[in-house]
Amino acid sequence: MKLNFDLVVIGGGSGGIACARRASEYGAKVALIEGDRLGGTCVIRGCIPKKLMMYASTGIDSIHNINTFCWEGINVRDLHFNTSLWQKKKTEEIKRLEDIYEKLLLSSNVRLFRGFGFIDDSSKVKTENEILSTERIVIATGGKPVKDSISGLNLASTSNDILELDHLPEELAVLGSGYIAVEFASILSNFGINVSLFFRSDLPLKGFDKDIRKRLFGHMESLGISMYPNSNIQKIEKSCKKLTVTVDGHRKQFDKILNALGRSPNVPEIEKSLNIARGKIGEILVNDFNETSIPNIFAIGDVTNRLNLTPVAIAEGRALAENEFNNGKLKVEHQSVASAVFSNPPIGSLGLTEVEAQKKFENQNIKIFESEFNPMKYSFSSKKKKIYIKIIAQGIDNKIVGAHMIGDDSPEIIQTLAIPFKMGMRKSDLDNTIAVHPTSAEELVLLRKPTRVLQSNGS
Ligand code: NDP
Repeated sequence: MKLNFDLVVIGGGSGGIACARRASEYGAKVALIEGDRLGGTCVIRGCIPKKLMMYASTGIDSIHNINTFCWEGINVRDLHFNTSLWQKKKTEEIKRLEDIYEKLLLSSNVRLFRGFGFIDDSSKVKTENEILSTERIVIATGGKPVKDSISGLNLASTSNDILELDHLPEELAVLGSGYIAVEFASILSNFGINVSLFFRSDLPLKGFDKDIRKRLFGHMESLGISMYPNSNIQKIEKSCKKLTVTVDGHRKQFDKILNALGRSPNVPEIEKSLNIARGKIGEILVNDFNETSIPNIFAIGDVTNRLNLTPVAIAEGRALAENEFNNGKLKVEHQSVASAVFSNPPIGSLGLTEVEAQKKFENQNIKIFESEFNPMKYSFSSKKKKIYIKIIAQGIDNKIVGAHMIGDDSPEIIQTLAIPFKMGMRKSDLDNTIAVHPTSAEELVLLRKPTRVLQSNGS
């Protein structure tokens, strides 16, 4: 059967769905093809189930803290986490969200095709039973875990597998120290699992501000996570029911190993003859308008491997619909996108790191404002989880070029700060704001003097 469309989107994750719905809103005739579940990595096997697991795991911390506020009768040692019940509830919640996505697509008049799409030429996409003729094609197929960068890596679990567990292991090794590694190491260690983190750099979370990375290292260690920086991870082998990882020539055994060694673009056999230009790791190369090397074929989100965050994919999808069907000329700017890491404690980050600011402005009048304090929430607790805030200002007008935070509620605070940041906030704007008291976020408007001033002589 042959069908005609203005737009065919391949991939029903957050970016693809956002693009399809927005295009349809502007009157385009749109089809979306999905070979797996609707919602993609974020909803089905990423951000959402991960955060549900994080909430489950931090419950125990809250109970510890409640006890310090004089509640009696709750003995943390008597508590037992019912993993299979959590799994059941999580599965129901994800199914609920998936159904909402399907309803939204259908109510937006997007025609949904189940199965895999194959691009025949720039105006034709084949599904299992149909040929879809179209003016434009969007590739929104996301990413997938890398499984071959070290020998035996395919024996390790991915974050997808960890989210499906119905009982927890006693000992777990986590390989890598990116987003997924530190988030899952934190979550699983909160559940009382013995977690060891092996990574090749000196500090976790390469790319983040060094002062945040140092503090995260310390916090993770104090949570009881065994940290192995500067590790050369060599191979993984199966031994009876356990897995052995060889690091720097030493063999160590674990119940499970989490492969958090990064993700790569998911470009299955989507096209053969067109030869869409690809980058080093197979990502689809696009310009600022998400156009690929082939006219009328576009790519959005993780498959382009630029800034692999759900809201970025959504923004790219919507901008594309705006440009193609509503005479827009939108570009999604990747420079000042805030991000959060749901580690324990969580992190919020925005703009340049201190090192990036030094490079960009060649040490021209950079002021660093810092504050580190015990949040009131832990007033009665012997376990103090400090909050650290760093604001980086530059130039005679002290324009804020970076904001970084580690500690409770950092993701929520950094989201709010992202708004004035985008508007060109100056340090004086923070100073002119009267604090909301008593809060942790008020520290942002009470940072009076810089802790350091960086000038071109390198001081
Ligand atoms: P990352 O790219 O963040 O981290 C990969 C890790 O693997 C790094 O520590 C890297 O080391 C290490 N690594 C890669 N190859 C090797 C190797 N051969 N040997 C040893 N170490 C290696 O990937 P993630 O999988 O954690 O996350 C993927 C993407 O998903 C991220 O880009 C992020 O944008 C997104 N994401 C976002 C989240 C959020 O917003 N909260 C949560 C989860 C994921 P090194 O640092 O030294 O290069």
